[in-house]
Amino acid sequence: MSTTTETYGTDPAPSPLALLLLGREADPNSERGVECPGDLPAASDPDLVARARAAKEKLGDRVFILGHHYQRDEVIEFADVTGDSFKLARDAAARPEAEYIVFCGVHFMAESADILTSERQRVVLPDLAAGCSMADMATAEQVAECWDVLTEAGVADATVPVSYMNSSADIKAFTGRHGGTICTSSNAKRALEWAFEQGEKVLFLPDQHLGRNTAVLEMGVPLDECVLYNPHKPNGGLTAEQLRDAKMILWRGHCSVHGRFSVQSVDEVRERIPGVTVLVHPECKHEVVTAADMVGSTEYIIKALDAAEPGSKWAIGTELNLVRRLAKAHPDKEVVFLDRTVCFCSTMNRIDLPHLVWTLESLAEGRVPNVITVDAETERYAKAALDRMLALP
Ligand code: SF4
Repeated sequence: MSTTTETYGTDPAPSPLALLLLGREADPNSERGVECPGDLPAASDPDLVARARAAKEKLGDRVFILGHHYQRDEVIEFADVTGDSFKLARDAAARPEAEYIVFCGVHFMAESADILTSERQRVVLPDLAAGCSMADMATAEQVAECWDVLTEAGVADATVPVSYMNSSADIKAFTGRHGGTICTSSNAKRALEWAFEQGEKVLFLPDQHLGRNTAVLEMGVPLDECVLYNPHKPNGGLTAEQLRDAKMILWRGHCSVHGRFSVQSVDEVRERIPGVTVLVHPECKHEVVTAADMVGSTEYIIKALDAAEPGSKWAIGTELNLVRRLAKAHPDKEVVFLDRTVCFCSTMNRIDLPHLVWTLESLAEGRVPNVITVDAETERYAKAALDRMLALP
């Protein structure tokens, strides 16, 4: 039985991938993507809004623009639909007449959209450098090695993989191949309940915090039955006995945005704003979620604010673009960002108006840039895992 203080750690796990400057050089195996070709309009171009409108109008129903909740306002303005990654992928699949799906989000989301949309639809990511540091923390090679470790410890047969939507297509395919399911932050509890009906243990990838928070706070799994698999240590830093005793094997990954919130930020905001309700995303650290008043997915946070009483005060622990938009949408309530330090998701923010204009104008001129394609074999298994999630009760 084991748990370590490291379990809550959010110090960045060293990446096996060479660090690339965002938008420069190329690494097709990384969620950071590859360089973005083409001449982008200058960000200061005063005609950008008019150009985006004109190109979108020219494309008509042939294009469908998806905007993730964490995108900038200037991009959201052109989205046909907004939502979290899974809702957006499903919305895209429900629009077969759209030849081009422009995904204003990050790389793994565009991959999921490609998996769920038809053959003839092309999914386009306006900036290929829009990756996700969390998804990058679990590579196919590392996860295959982890499975070998579990096999050697004699626990692989009793283990069901559950992977968060925020993972690469390769990891989703691994999950499908080994009889597991995908989950979102909205249905993680149902996914875990299902998984524990199939096996004795869960390997939860790649976000340790969502896995731990759901297992411990929603399902009553004891904290000391959650162990942390560190892909940068031999055998994940765990003994065979620890693996045999564990119920939840958590991958050592985290979101660099949600991992920033601390118990100090919760204490500080309570002192600064008496009567404030602290509402955080389950990608936050366990001690932050425990200290908060409420916890829930992006969609849950949006609904909670919609239902809140006028005059109520809220400190929100999620991505800053969304918190600012919520503050603007609810002028009758006080809505603040949980941390005093301003922090956007830097890769989400890679998608800006110049990239969107460049993408739409390219499509309108008959060029299809930055197409995200998942190969047929990966797609087959990834889709099996996604389908299992869709079939969850
Ligand atoms: S907010 Fe976190 S999980 Fe979402 S794209 Fe950014 S780094 Fe990845």
